[in-house]
Amino acid sequence: MFSDPGHSNGYFHHQDGGAFPEHNSLRPPHRGRGRRRGRRGRSHDSADAPASGAPRVADSDQRVEQKPPPCTDFDVAYFHSYAHLGIHEEMIKDRIRTDTYRAAIMRHQSFIAGKVVVDVGCGTGILSIFCAQAGAKRVYAVDASDIAVQANEVVKANNLSDTVIVLHGRVEDVEIDEEVDVIISEWMGYLLLYESMLGSVITARDRWLKPGGLILPSNATLYMAPVTHSDRYSDSIDFWRNVYGIDMSAMLPLAKQCAFEEPCIETISGENVLTWPHVVKHVDCYTVTLGELESVTTRYKFKSMMRAPLHGFAFWFDVEFNGHAISPTNNHVSSSFIESSNNQSTDVSQRKKRGNPSEALVLSTAPEDPPTHWQQTMVYFYDPIDLEQDQVIEGSLTLTQSRENRRFMNIHLEYTSGGRSFVKESVMR
Ligand code: SAH
Repeated sequence: MFSDPGHSNGYFHHQDGGAFPEHNSLRPPHRGRGRRRGRRGRSHDSADAPASGAPRVADSDQRVEQKPPPCTDFDVAYFHSYAHLGIHEEMIKDRIRTDTYRAAIMRHQSFIAGKVVVDVGCGTGILSIFCAQAGAKRVYAVDASDIAVQANEVVKANNLSDTVIVLHGRVEDVEIDEEVDVIISEWMGYLLLYESMLGSVITARDRWLKPGGLILPSNATLYMAPVTHSDRYSDSIDFWRNVYGIDMSAMLPLAKQCAFEEPCIETISGENVLTWPHVVKHVDCYTVTLGELESVTTRYKFKSMMRAPLHGFAFWFDVEFNGHAISPTNNHVSSSFIESSNNQSTDVSQRKKRGNPSEALVLSTAPEDPPTHWQQTMVYFYDPIDLEQDQVIEGSLTLTQSRENRRFMNIHLEYTSGGRSFVKESVMR
């Protein structure tokens, strides 16, 4: 417990399982090199959930403390996975990610200096220390994972203990006895929402953020686009047609299932993308509600810009570091191309120019941008569809937090092209 006497630590006192067992037998929710898998998300039963559209940055005297959601075994496993240094090393070594956060903090230095900050999910403490370097008066560095123990050591070793207060507990449980001016958090998971850590940022916002306070990042957008990827299909599927001269085509159904049943985290390039992307969801961190994140549905319509086999859809996201909430309809663009929901390409004049210091900083995970540890999330079809130029692909997508584990995400994809319709269900777990 690292809090000073004025700041109690809910991690140890929460009655509903806030303290984690010493050991759990659950598989950590991430695997391979991938970053976290599984998350918070629809953290409340509907009876507990704040109504959609409820005001978010409440006046202090209007704040209504919600009962924190229970810490489930899945949450325990999730936090346990973050105790491993490797996951933090991977994130910190992602220079696109870490440099953009540092640049965003420094760009808002005049706001942060002398102010109180909460770092939602501080991990090793790196963002908290950036904020201290930017002149923050006090930084509450909150993390429920045991990595918080190391974060506290790092803070001490850098002589920042007077400024950075490490709270080892869930954001939902810890107590901070003052309002904060700034919330910083690196909460994004695959498919943006998969990690569903955003719910904890919402909780922090509604518990502590002063009216007029700053949230970094301020908004986020999830995109999807149809892709062609013949090499990938050949490597996993066509490979079985001739294995050392043996016809192993009998493997094909199993190979398709094994390769493409679940979403894949892979790096593709802009050349794999067949059209402008479609905005699946725009999130304004100042106003988004927990209820809004439980299920996201969008309808899309693409027109292929070339003749090519369609192998599936790619998903990626970006986040912006603005001072204030902005309208998604007229002010958000980060990729070098974008298609809005009604299938109209956004006029070039509306695009934000990167590198212009007066524009918002953008952390992009788009295929045409330098790769990050998030890569792209691919949902492949079992069989490709041969597209002609200008052929339409349309349908709908629903992303839902799983009932079995709110940190899992159910993906329901419907697509129609060339008079044939398909449905693909997958679970990101
Ligand atoms: N801010 C660090 C770590 C980001 S990873 C960095 O940028 O490098 C996300 C961290 O958030 C993990 O360490 C995880 O344990 C923590 N976390 C996720 N949900 C949380 C919650 N509800 N309460 C406290 N910590 C949380």
